[in-house]
Amino acid sequence: MNPELLLSRIRVVLCRPSHPGNIGAAARAMKTMGLSRLYLVAPKQFPDPEADTRATGAVDLLQQATVTGTLSEALAGSRFAMALSARQRDLGPEIGQPRESVGRLLAEAEQGEVALVFGNETMGLSNEEIFHCQAAVTIPTNPDFSSLNLGAAVQVLCYECRMTAFSGKPPVASQGVTAFVAPAASHEEVEGLYAHLEAVMTETGFFNPEQPGRLLPKLRRLFGRSRLERDEVNILRGILASTQIKTGHGRKG
Ligand code: SAH
Repeated sequence: MNPELLLSRIRVVLCRPSHPGNIGAAARAMKTMGLSRLYLVAPKQFPDPEADTRATGAVDLLQQATVTGTLSEALAGSRFAMALSARQRDLGPEIGQPRESVGRLLAEAEQGEVALVFGNETMGLSNEEIFHCQAAVTIPTNPDFSSLNLGAAVQVLCYECRMTAFSGKPPVASQGVTAFVAPAASHEEVEGLYAHLEAVMTETGFFNPEQPGRLLPKLRRLFGRSRLERDEVNILRGILASTQIKTGHGRKG
């Protein structure tokens, strides 16, 4: 299925969010990853200017958000819900890793609507909310500091959804700038540079052909690593030629 269509079938449900700023951050996290359907279950304060501020360019998602009184209403019409929980609960669904769990979520999304369900900032998800979900996922974190900010947790999951929907290779925004491509220097051009370098180093006394040591192979190794372009060889040879003029070895005229 078309990745964008698949992503459009994922609802992000925030249960009882306390801070409007986090609602805005979640909207922004979603939109950057191509998700668009935000559901808010009994938000403490919404709409709110702080939510708009944190959403920046994703205010449209806030305007289209569905506000419900219960999680059950937010899940109406969906076929699969995944709880986001920082810890395993008694009798709750077995906890999975984000990547494999998102694989399952998207397999379900091929068939219909699905949901990612996030909890309140202080309390997390209630047991009742968890029991509305068929799967659960924990973002692996530092065991000594495991709780992410709500907006950050939404970002991580939305990123995984995008990666999976695009089979690991989502297109990157190039913003109309194409990478600079220059022709590589040919064998003869590079050899010409080495000969020129050797001549100048001999002229200045830096290199003694009677006692060459490892200088020339080391320089070949250095330039070999850098995959010289034709322009770069010309610049380096220009520098060498200018040195030769100063030291009286340059071509006259
Ligand atoms: N103190 C709460 C955490 C609340 S953070 C608790 O211990 O449950 C708000 C929400 O962000 C959580 O309910 C969960 O949906 C999500 N979240 C935060 N950290 C997470 C993690 N490591 N893995 C999965 N979800 C996480």
